[in-house]
Order: sequence, then structure tokens, then C-alpha cells
Amino acid sequence: MLDNAANVGRILRSKLRKHLRTKGDPLTIRDMREEIFDWNVRLLMIENACFTLDELSVKYWGECQPIGNVEHANFEPGYSSIIKFIAQGLNQRNIRLSCPVETIEWRQSISTGNLSQANAKPVTVTLADKRRIFADCVIATCSLGYLKENYKKMFNPELPLHLSQAIECLGFGLVNKIFLDFGEPWWGPNDQGFQFIWSKNGRRIFSKQKLATWTRDLTGFNILEGHRAVLLGQVAGRGAYIVETLSEQQVALDCINLLRHFLKREDISVPRRCKRTQWHSNMYIRGAYSHISTNCDATAVTPGILGKPVWCTVTREARDKCIPVIMLAGEATHEKYYSTTHGAFETGIRQAKTFLQYHTEKKC
Ligand SMILES: Cc1cc2nc3c(=O)[nH]c(=O)nc-3n(C[C@H](O)[C@H](O)[C@H](O)COP(=O)(O)OP(=O)(O)OC[C@H]3O[C@@H](n4cnc5c(N)ncnc54)[C@H](O)[C@@H]3O)c2cc1C
Repeated sequence: MLDNAANVGRILRSKLRKHLRTKGDPLTIRDMREEIFDWNVRLLMIENACFTLDELSVKYWGECQPIGNVEHANFEPGYSSIIKFIAQGLNQRNIRLSCPVETIEWRQSISTGNLSQANAKPVTVTLADKRRIFADCVIATCSLGYLKENYKKMFNPELPLHLSQAIECLGFGLVNKIFLDFGEPWWGPNDQGFQFIWSKNGRRIFSKQKLATWTRDLTGFNILEGHRAVLLGQVAGRGAYIVETLSEQQVALDCINLLRHFLKREDISVPRRCKRTQWHSNMYIRGAYSHISTNCDATAVTPGILGKPVWCTVTREARDKCIPVIMLAGEATHEKYYSTTHGAFETGIRQAKTFLQYHTEKKC
């Protein structure tokens, strides 16, 4: 039975305390367990894109499923290659790039008697340059971060309760990546990377301002697959927000100070190039990916609810037909694979099938 204040962070801390009490280990072993726990917390914050583990629902913990056989699939030319591949099979005249959508007006009911073409369509999409598109249906795939910030002014009339509640309750946090390119590796051929496990005393170095505080939220650096001289680090929590405000030169220096201190190697050179993502600053993304937050516990909101269509009743020749007119897709709408690209992909296919089912067959 979960109490009202249950969350993943709290449960894990209490389990650790209980474990340490019952184990009765010597102090050094006990400290070591706590230090590894601390690393794990940082890793879970990255995996769940959250500011703290206290945001995560225990009730829905474990809903996000691993995909199975393929653990890692790297797309060498980047994810845009998938989009390009799909777009090849489409009529290029129907693809409009760099056209941000500003508003989506929709109608709950529509009568298609003698109306003009514009009025006969249940959806009007207005672009940022004020051009309008009249549509039968919209599948919107903007991120949950974008929706949280814009849904109230984007949709007119406002979205039904099940969607507005899901947008408000589901969580959408921040993770950023840092790439450090050294030109030549300074590590050994068998090294895979470096993980930062801080002793309790060692952590004081951050408060003494010898190391940049944001770097405390890094779990470590791994050697980027296929790039023998590049280290890749990920950061969530407060550090993920701070890193967006710093220059890449500063990010590189902070990381090098950390690596030099941690590995006790002053000879580590400054990287040739540093790249860091800024997913929160991107006004069309506003974060990284979604999680099920404690706000979902009471409302029973899950990602699948965000994928439920908005319906419109169309009356034609005195007959009513219900059609979906707005459908949200994207990672945050997948019941089992939320927070992933394959989840996002599957929801797009699913909503497209729903569109075909209702807009090409005579069903109600
Ligand atoms: C650091 C990091 C690491 C990750 N690692 C992994 C991983 O290892 N494996 C994995 O599977 N996933 C990973 N992800 C998550 C993955 O990137 C997302 O789940 C995926 O990109 C979601 O796709 P989407 O189509 O739902 O949304 P998005 O990729 O956010 O695409 C939404 C698109 O909508 C556009 N848009 C928004 N608003 C408008 C508007 N008003 N008008 C027009 N267009 C608009 C945006 O510009 C954007 O192009 C990671 C994400 C991050 C940030």
C-alpha cells in the first residue's frame, strides 16, 4: 500500500537505510554502498529526465519497457536520416519545412451541407507567418515540453480535459549531452570511460568551489562509439540547466578540471572541440523526454491517455459520423516506450492508422 507522499526517491532512500541497518557493515563498506547509491541516483535522473527522483511515481514505476533484443542502435548519419528516408516516399509538394504551427482551431461538430470549402473542414491550422491550412485532421507531434508551455494558446477551443490533464500531470525533464573531442585519446586502449563515484569527503570539493558545481550532476564520461578520441557525458538535474547557460569553452574547462581532479592527472589536455546540447533553450522542444510523475497517481494519467483522439461529429445528409480531428503523437504518448525514439515512431504509425480508419472508411 502506497502512502500519499510515496515517490521513487523517497522509497529508494528508505530501502537503502533499511538495508544498511540490517547489514551492519563496517563503516568503510557502508560509506561505499552510499557512494554507489549516490551514483545510481544521478544515473536514474538521466534515465528518467527528472530534476529529482522525488518527482517520479512509484505507482507507475517500471511501466517503461525495454525494447528487447536490440539494446543499442546507433544511426551513424544521425536521426534525420530516418526522416529523410521516410520522406523519399512522399509527394514533396506536401512537405513544408520550417513552418512553425501557431494555432490549431477545431470544431466539435460540423455540418457539411452547402458550406464553402474552408468551413467544411473541421480543423484550421495557422502557421507563424499567418498562412492557414484547412484540414480534416491534425496529428501533432510536438514535444510534451512544447505542449506544456503552449497548449492553452495553441488549441482553440481548448483541449478536452483528458488531454489537458495529461499534459499537466505527465512530467517532462531535462538531460543534456556533452561531447569532448580530444583529437587523440589520452586514455588506454582498453578503457571504456570514467564514472564519478564521490566519497563523502570528496564531495566537499564542490562546495569549496574548486570544481564547477554543475559537474557534480555528471555520472561520468564514456568513449563515444565509433569515435576513439571523443568522450560523451550526460547530465540531468540542476547541472543540465546550468550547462545550457555556459559557453562551450567554459563547459570544456569545467569538465577538464573535473577529470584532472578525479583521475589525479594534470596532463589531460583541453579538448580540441566541445559540443553540448541545449534542449531546454530550444523553444520547440523545452527539455529532453517524459516521465510519469507523482501528479499522475491521483488522476490515473498515463502516456496512453495523451494519445487519445479529440473527436468531432460530422453531420452529412442528416447522418452523424464521429471522426478524430486532433491526435497527439510522439514519445510522451506511448504507453510502454515513452521517452524513446522507437516509442515516438510507433505512436506516429498508430495515429496515422486511426486517421485512415476514420477518414477513408464509412464508420462511426
Ligand atoms: C540527451 C538525450 C538522450 C536521449 N537518448 C535516447 C536514447 O538513447 N534512446 C532513445 O530511444 N531516445 C533517446 N532520447 C529521447 C528521444 O530523443 C525522444 O524520445 C524523441 O526525440 C522524441 O521524438 P518526438 O517525435 O516525440 O519529439 P521531438 O523529437 O521533440 O520532435 C518534435 C518536433 O516537433 C517540432 N515542433 C514543436 N513545436 C512545433 C510547432 N509549433 N510547429 C512545428 N513543429 C513543431 C520540433 O521542432 C521537433 O522537431 C534522448 C533524448 C535526449 C534529449
